[in-house]
Formats: sequence, structure tokens, C-alpha cells
Amino acid sequence: MRKYNASRPVLVTGGAGFLGSHLCDRLLGLGHEVICVDNFFTGARRNIEHLLDHPRFELMRHDVSLPLQLEVDQIYNLACPASPVHYQHDPVQTVKTSVLGALHVLELARRTQARVFQASTSEVYGDPDVHPQPEAYWGRVNPVGLRSCYDEGKRCAETLFMDYHRQCGVDVRIGRIFNTYGPRMHPNDGRVVSNFIVQALRGEPITIYGEGRQTRSFCYVDDLVDAFVAYMAHGGPLPGPINLGNPHEFTIRELAEQVIELTGSSSKLVFKPLPADDPQQRRPDIRLAGQQLGWEPKVQLGEGLRRTIAYFEELLQPVH
Ligand code: NAD
Ligand code: UDP
Repeated sequence: MRKYNASRPVLVTGGAGFLGSHLCDRLLGLGHEVICVDNFFTGARRNIEHLLDHPRFELMRHDVSLPLQLEVDQIYNLACPASPVHYQHDPVQTVKTSVLGALHVLELARRTQARVFQASTSEVYGDPDVHPQPEAYWGRVNPVGLRSCYDEGKRCAETLFMDYHRQCGVDVRIGRIFNTYGPRMHPNDGRVVSNFIVQALRGEPITIYGEGRQTRSFCYVDDLVDAFVAYMAHGGPLPGPINLGNPHEFTIRELAEQVIELTGSSSKLVFKPLPADDPQQRRPDIRLAGQQLGWEPKVQLGEGLRRTIAYFEELLQPVH
């Protein structure tokens, strides 16, 4: 029987990224010692700058597609570019990050008997023909398209997590994350919320891909970090997968209109071609997270957008 060992640190791969840096903040706040591993592909030093002098924080520059040797008690595996623009930039590296990264953290977990969380994704459902998406749905994914490096990489990572659980008894937790937004998204990230806010604040046209009738369900980052921590605190075994996201669904056009209203921007909407394999609809069924973790998101889109807009307003201030 695995014993919780509070004297060993918690590892966060991808800890300098958007979600990872918020998670590091939270774990330090809970009293943990935290090791952040990142290769800074999409992460930013400014996301963790405030932590560099923290006595319980350690930063390690490392690529998770290579093995790593550490003594840890818990692992959150978040390393992987999440924006379609970034994960399609070097698709082979994206697959290596997902699949070899998973393999290496699982080996580490097996050796150290650490509990390990996998940041999986709603992309495992592809362009879904079941709506909303429950965990039991197997998805509709193109294995040879432009998004496949990410979608299939994450699906293979889930497979590895379940096989290490069944074959080696590793205490795994698979969270399927739906679109999440908030402060510390990269301004050139390419994802819809950061794109629209940056465009609105600069008075540039808001780029809607397709007609903007496709839907997404947006979760504020603080709510998601609550879910991560609740999931890892569960006595288990609870391999999941468990959907983590906000079930309130909006069209992309509605999102654009809300961003324009909240920023008071004079930006106009422009329509661009829809990227290949862009899912038409996406909304999580989060009943399992409610039952197992007692979790549900609390922050409404308007409030989360206000907080995110405030962050980008400050970030985009000209430096004097
Ligand atoms: P992000 O791009 O801000 O963060 C990813 C981090 O991983 C970055 O700091 C990056 O430098 C690092 N990284 C990438 N490749 C690496 C490698 N080979 N070795 C070490 N570090 C590496 O993205 P995010 O939104 O914070 O996403 C974090 C995780 O959550 C990802 O695994 C992503 O797939 C998953 N996820 C996020 C969302 C979302 O909406 N934010 C949705 C579904 C899944
Ligand atoms: N999108 C858009 N304009 C943008 C960026 C994205 O209309 O500037 C659309 C994109 O086509 C998709 C949705 O917004 O339908 C969400 O895109 P994102 O890249 O944020 O995440 P996805 O859920 O597609 O991985």
C-alpha cells in the first residue's frame, strides 16, 4: 500500500505554462515543495518569476521527451503545447512530448510510487457526434489530420496511463480538460480567448474562423486548478478519465461579442476560413467530477473574462 510522503516534492511538468504556473502557485500555497520542469517551448519566465526566490520552489529546464530522475511524491504531467498553432508548429515533437513524456513520468511514478496526474484533453473526443461529451464516449478523431499529433498523442498518453495502472499498479489520475482560459495565457498563443482579448484591446479586427457558429465551453483557470487538486487529494484508486471543464456552452461569435462589450472596444468582426478538423461543438458532461470529487466550476464567463482582460491590459501596457 502506497504511503503519502509529505517530505518529498511535487513535480509539475509544464510548470512555466499557463495552467502549470497557476498550479505551482496553488501547491506552494498548500505548503508543498514544488519542482517545476519546463523546456520553455510555450511557457514564459514571467509566469513563474515571482516564485524563483521561494524557498520551496525549484525550476528545472528539461524536455520531458527525455527521461528524468527525481524523488517525488506526486506528479502533475502538464508539459505539452496546448494551442493548435503551437502544437502544429512541430507535430513530431508534439507526439514525442505527449507519448514519451507520459512514458517517462509513468516510469518515474512506478519507481518512486508517486501518484501521477495526466493533463488530457477534450480533444480525445475529436469532432464529437455525441453531445455533451461523457467520459464513456470514445470520440470521433481523425488519425491523419493536422490536429492528430495532439489528439492522438493525448489518446496514446491515456492508453499508457491506463496500462501502467493495470499492469504495474501505478496510481494514475486522468483529467480530460475542456477549454480553459485566464491570466498568463500567452498573448501570441493563438487560442480563441487570448486572441479575441488582445485584438479587442489593440482595436484590431476580431478574427472569427468560419461563421462563428461552432461552440466551446470555457472554464476559468482557478476553477480548473481546484479540480486538479481535489482529484489528486482523492484517496483513490480513481484512474478516471474524468472530464474537467465548465458546461456552459457559447458560440464563438457570442464570445467575440462579449469580449467587445467588456473591453468597450471598437473592433469589428472579420471572418476567416475555418481550420481543418475544427470541432463544431464541445461541452463536457461533468456529472462524474461532481459525484467523485464534489467539484463544479463557480466562475461565470463574464467574471472570468473581466479578470483575464485586466491581466492583458497590464501586460500590453507600453514599457517606458
Ligand atoms: P501552455 O502551452 O501554456 O503550457 C504548456 C507548458 O509545457 C509550457 O510551459 C511549455 O513550455 C511546456 N512544454 C511543452 N513541451 C515540453 C517538453 N517537451 N518538455 C518540457 N516542457 C514542455 O498550455 P496550457 O494551457 O497551460 O496547457 C497545459 C496542459 O493542459 C497541456 O498538457 C495541455 O494539453 C492541457 N490542456 C489544456 C487545455 C486548456 O484549455 N488550457 C485544455 C486541454 C488540455
Ligand atoms: N477561433 C477563432 N478565432 C481565433 C482563434 C480561434 O474563431 O482567433 C476558433 C477556432 O476555430 C475554434 C475555437 O475558436 O473553433 C476554439 O479555438 P482554440 O484554438 O481556442 O481551441 P480548440 O478548442 O479549437 O482547441
